[in-house]
Amino acid sequence: MPKATEKSLTYEMVITEIMRSVSGPLPAQELAAKMLLALPSSARNPQQAMRQHIRQANGKQLVFLDTDTVLHALKEILGAGADGDVVSTVAGSLPTVAASGSRGTRAAEVLSSLPPRDISFCHGCPHRASFWAINAALALDGRGGFATGDIGCYGLAVGPTGFSALKTQHCMGAGIGEASGFGVLAEMGFSQPVVAVAGDSTFYHACIPALLNAKVQGASMVFVILDNSTTAMTGFQPHPGTPCTPLDPDKIVVTPEEVCRGLGVETVVIDPVEDVQGAVTAVFDGLQRGGLRVVVMRRVCATYDKKSVTAPKLEMVADAELCVGEACGCDRFCSRVLGCPGNRWDAEAGHAYVDPDYCNACGLCAQLCPRGALSVVEVGGRGEEGVS
Ligand code: SF4
Ligand code: SF4
Repeated sequence: MPKATEKSLTYEMVITEIMRSVSGPLPAQELAAKMLLALPSSARNPQQAMRQHIRQANGKQLVFLDTDTVLHALKEILGAGADGDVVSTVAGSLPTVAASGSRGTRAAEVLSSLPPRDISFCHGCPHRASFWAINAALALDGRGGFATGDIGCYGLAVGPTGFSALKTQHCMGAGIGEASGFGVLAEMGFSQPVVAVAGDSTFYHACIPALLNAKVQGASMVFVILDNSTTAMTGFQPHPGTPCTPLDPDKIVVTPEEVCRGLGVETVVIDPVEDVQGAVTAVFDGLQRGGLRVVVMRRVCATYDKKSVTAPKLEMVADAELCVGEACGCDRFCSRVLGCPGNRWDAEAGHAYVDPDYCNACGLCAQLCPRGALSVVEVGGRGEEGVS
């Protein structure tokens, strides 16, 4: 590995140098060893030099995926005196953070003082509606059915934000592979129906062979493609199904339903937010009829949608007269069960309200409120808020 000069070397450059020289993941101990190797040969005391470089990185934060083991390796190298320079914090379900310098220590203090909160789908996220529909369909079916999935942002459905609908979570595209296995076990006495989920980007990336296999094997399952029309979790990259844009007007679009129907699989397409009841019915019917069915639940990612220059500005309003919260039997459904960050409860006034800072007026809570106390109103165009 070429050596940088001591004068120009920074901790960031050491990492960059290492990353250039390797392909694929690097075990923590190996990373630590390479960090030592990357130091200039003139450094007579590499541990001391590394400490110095970490100090020089004052104000910069390095976040590792494999944080605990990297930190252990670093601390081993740096010795007991490293605590002032390398901090590790774990605050509830927040990831461990490795940082250097006084700002890192400050970040640790701030993180540990934050009130705990659930990991949640974004406000207005269409996956909330999709998992509501999947859960409701499985409950209506009543045979102990379950959903299998993977690690897209919809993987959060293993927790309360997705009504704990997902029972498995493995690598990209794993859900449909698992479900197609469960879906051929009826003759062995396995009677629980199964719903597989995958995002639209994951569908193209890792699900088409498994769908073909499910078709050929005669698997009985419902496969829900959670189509938010982008690759949301990694930064809104396009995929074969994303629409043309002004920047790419000649893009060839191949939709998930075209692929599924091309494989001879019955496929329905529905907007789970606009028609949550229809989404419940689409999954429920598939479970009841048996065989293989695809339900494409298509609704653009709420965070991506905010970038649209043409979307009208909508607002959600709660009618304090109609909402009786605790007393109506809904048990404060919107703020307690649905769990959208926009749905709040005013304990003093005894009714629900919608926080305009968090609500993007998707309208899901309005459809599900048993009292009709929530409604969407149009208040004008977004205009300059959009991005070009
Ligand atoms: S309309 Fe309701 S569910 Fe949709 S973002 Fe607003 S508060 Fe959340
Ligand atoms: S707005 Fe509707 S769902 Fe929310 S607490 Fe009031 S009655 Fe219940």
